[in-house]
Amino acid sequence: MNIDLKYLYSLGNTILINEPLKMHTTIKVGGITPYYIIPKTKQIFINTLDYIIENKINFKIIGGGANLLINDDTLNFVVLSTEYLTGYSLNENILISEVGIPISRLSYIAMENSLSGLEFAVGIPGSLGGALFMNAGAYGGQMSDIVTEVEAYDIIERKTIILKKELLNFNYRKSIFQERRYISLSAKINLYKKDITNIKNKMKELSEKRWEKQPLEFPSAGSFFKRPKPDFYVGTTIEKLGLKGFSIGDAEVSNKHAGFIINKGNAKFEDIINLAEKIKKVVKEKYGEDLEIEPEIWW
Ligand SMILES: Cc1cc2nc3c(=O)[nH]c(=O)nc-3n(C[C@H](O)[C@H](O)[C@H](O)COP(=O)(O)OP(=O)(O)OC[C@H]3O[C@@H](n4cnc5c(N)ncnc54)[C@H](O)[C@@H]3O)c2cc1C
Repeated sequence: MNIDLKYLYSLGNTILINEPLKMHTTIKVGGITPYYIIPKTKQIFINTLDYIIENKINFKIIGGGANLLINDDTLNFVVLSTEYLTGYSLNENILISEVGIPISRLSYIAMENSLSGLEFAVGIPGSLGGALFMNAGAYGGQMSDIVTEVEAYDIIERKTIILKKELLNFNYRKSIFQERRYISLSAKINLYKKDITNIKNKMKELSEKRWEKQPLEFPSAGSFFKRPKPDFYVGTTIEKLGLKGFSIGDAEVSNKHAGFIINKGNAKFEDIINLAEKIKKVVKEKYGEDLEIEPEIWW
């Protein structure tokens, strides 16, 4: 890969060479990228994107790595991390934040300022950018309820633009960012004043539910399949099919929540894919539904 490391350092990047991506995913799987680039500021992130796109270098963006399943092989793309993009400002009920901030942390910032709307995000792993990408949601709330606009980098025009909510194409676990033209940089979030005790209690209740229902003690990428239709509960279906605890290698259908595939130690990419295919096959045979894998797969 032809890349001018000196130039990238001079922009203000931290660069990890031959970095195993399993160090950066919540399921602890992922091969080696030649360059893992961490821009220190939003402007450095933009300048780095400019360089990478101008030089036609294969790249991917990573936030918290909570919705990714990555091949174990050596990878032929560089990875740009948003982890240092954590600046935010608050003006009355409007929160503007850069995309690298953990979405769960944003829910605490809102709560500390008696602002409601982000309670649903407590305990969702990953960054604001990843949450925009997936229109992340839980317990009746989702990003599309609160985001009013997003500042994004347009890969084709190579400039930053503002995408108003109508243009974000939010839907169930979908957004315009999945079309790959735009990379989010910051978002404007509309919250509303509420009594802090109410917000705190709601967040406590939702956190407890998560710990009770989800196998948070094991590495995973969260719910492994999207709901094929609103009233089709994937975890319950897999459980009814007797697949709880079924495993291939160290990849296992969680005994606590059958919608999760967990890594019991040294699961390989292939184990997880094979396990997912097995589940898909059985669900198709018994229920006629085609399950779609929720995490992004990087081959
Ligand atoms: C235990 C557990 C529980 C979970 N619970 C939930 C839940 O309740 N609800 C839910 O919706 N999800 C849940 N998830 C999934 C995950 O937390 C969300 O999808 C989260 O939004 C992923 O964010 P991330 O920053 O980790 O994204 P990553 O995994 O880093 O990236 C995912 C995709 O987003 C893209 N991306 C990231 N940042 C940007 C950016 N700035 N611009 C453009 N593209 C970008 C990446 O390129 C990649 O394609 C859970 C996951 C785990 C492990």
